[in-house]
Amino acid sequence: MKPRAVRGMNDVLPDISGTWQYLQEIVREVVESYGYREIRLPIIEYTELFRRSIGEVTDIVEKEMYTFLDRNDESLTLRPEATASMVRAAITNGLLHNQRQKLWTSGPMFRYEKPQQGRYRQFHQFDVEAMGFAGPDVDAELIILCARMWQRLGLSRLTLEINSLGTNAARAIYRQELIDYFTTVKNQLDEDSIRRLGQNPLRILDSKNPELRDIIAAAPVMIDYLDEESVQHFAGLKSLLDSAGVAYSVNPRLVRGLDYYNRTVFEWVTDALGSQGAVCSGGRYDGLVEKLGGRPTPAIGWAMGIERLVALFITCDGVAPRRDSHVYIVAAGDKALARAFELTEELKDGIGAVRIEVNLGGGSFKSQLKRADKSGALYALILGEDEIAGDVVGLKPLRSGEAQRSIPLAGILAELKTVLGELD
Ligand code: ATP
Ligand code: MG
Repeated sequence: MKPRAVRGMNDVLPDISGTWQYLQEIVREVVESYGYREIRLPIIEYTELFRRSIGEVTDIVEKEMYTFLDRNDESLTLRPEATASMVRAAITNGLLHNQRQKLWTSGPMFRYEKPQQGRYRQFHQFDVEAMGFAGPDVDAELIILCARMWQRLGLSRLTLEINSLGTNAARAIYRQELIDYFTTVKNQLDEDSIRRLGQNPLRILDSKNPELRDIIAAAPVMIDYLDEESVQHFAGLKSLLDSAGVAYSVNPRLVRGLDYYNRTVFEWVTDALGSQGAVCSGGRYDGLVEKLGGRPTPAIGWAMGIERLVALFITCDGVAPRRDSHVYIVAAGDKALARAFELTEELKDGIGAVRIEVNLGGGSFKSQLKRADKSGALYALILGEDEIAGDVVGLKPLRSGEAQRSIPLAGILAELKTVLGELD
């Protein structure tokens, strides 16, 4: 019986991994150009960390976590998101003692969701967090740098939605209003929403059940209950986005699926990927560091789904630069093969960025040249008995009609430098 991959967990095959690398590289470049530095985190944490940070009454904690006991009977969980680990790492390592941090990380996340297009059980995120910054300036920076990424990647069809969830105190008042409202329409709610009504009514707004759309649309909105400081903060963000020329729409029903958010929340959404339209989502979580045992520290971050970014890039006709070999060495016979290996290292020493592969496993000239062609290489270098005897090598252009030329071995490095030109 053939082995199966775990449901909802995908292999990223070589045909597409170059696109992943390219996108991640550009995202990294842009983020680092704003002063964010990488932090690498474990993919497993104590379950308690996610329960406390994401919140007990959320889809993630209630039904999506991969939780297990290790051999020491400790409850561990494969991370469903990165913010909790990021905050945990900042606290554990004392990164917030008289310091502010601008950090990014990336890697796999795990949620036991219903697998479908754009929604997987192992998926990948690029995650950016700023800790120790209270004002709307950092909110703006985190959003503006996304706009720059989209521009660098040639991505259109992304729009920005923002909202403010206010302070905890303001949200408590709003929460009661929501409970009152949803209680009046309780007989029309689904089971999940009824359960949430008492515990976490904001979550109802985040429901994906289309039958609840009208009821949710008529619910009171947080923005009418904002405290004065949050109003100011939100105005500050909008004005910075306006002056940066980043367009947005205020979506008063945007609440996000995790409990730790306050004030600014935002989502970059696309209409190009069907119902899985959120590409990059984030928000402020000023209370989380303290809640997890650190000193009170304001913070904000976003996470981008890389699978969705890749899908959008392809939909927008994006093409990643190819990483094919430049040169494929065809070698017939043992002597030629030994010489080919030697030559490969000489050429790699001599031309820093060159990509050269030697034909492995022998074969006739014809079949080796076929492989050379298939490799995507620009040139084949040909070493046969005649070439070895004459101290020459055949240089065969594979992507033009030009004829094969015989080049003295001593001159091949210089010749390749000339024909290959500047390499990326
Ligand atoms: P959604 O509304 O699509 O469920 P979310 O609000 O749960 O998204 P976040 O927890 O904010 O998403 O994660 C940030 C980003 O990670 C999302 O915007 C999305 O691009 C991506 N993402 C989230 N869950 C998945 C998943 N199961 N498969 C693939 N990508 C995902
Ligand atoms: Mg979700």
